[in-house]
Amino acid sequence: MEVTTESIKHKLLGKIRNVPDFPKPGIQFKDITPLLADADTLEITSNILAEPFKSAEVDYVVGLESRGFLFGPDLALKLNAGFIPVRKPGKLPAETLSHSYELEYGTDSLEIHKDALQKGANVVIHDDLIATGGTALAAVELIQKLGGKVTGFSFIMELKFLKGKSNLPAEIPYHCILSV
Ligand code: AMP
Repeated sequence: MEVTTESIKHKLLGKIRNVPDFPKPGIQFKDITPLLADADTLEITSNILAEPFKSAEVDYVVGLESRGFLFGPDLALKLNAGFIPVRKPGKLPAETLSHSYELEYGTDSLEIHKDALQKGANVVIHDDLIATGGTALAAVELIQKLGGKVTGFSFIMELKFLKGKSNLPAEIPYHCILSV
């Protein structure tokens, strides 16, 4: 996102903690809890996430379990949209649609409530981080199967070396604050 200055990016990056070998050996986990705990970086991140969608028509923000639930509802409020959780298997109580995907550290499935959105609804997908892009792509599948239209991606950071962005449909606008 070009509008974000280098000094702001630097400030946000300073609040992302690298945790080696979590959740398993060889993975460097990007922990956003320090960024959330600081009132200043919490507000800055919230504002920057909303900026690119201010003039877009967004019906729903879909947040991906679990860290997509942290800023997702806030982003939805800012865009005058609703919030829909996409969750790991067995967590959503009503009838669900399911889709399997690959993660940087394993494979998993995601679910959405079958009645979560109306056909033709404009949806922004949000998560804290994109690694391979498998999770976000699974969310695209779920939303499209329900007849929704994915009109944007919103991430706090991307792991550049995994090139997740290139696995997402190129025609859908992609917004990510930090590249690490
Ligand atoms: P991917 O499907 O490979 O793009 O993985 C993205 C999902 O896994 C997001 O929900 C992230 O929160 C989580 N994730 C993957 N790798 C990391 C990492 N190194 N640090 C923190 N979260 C990660």
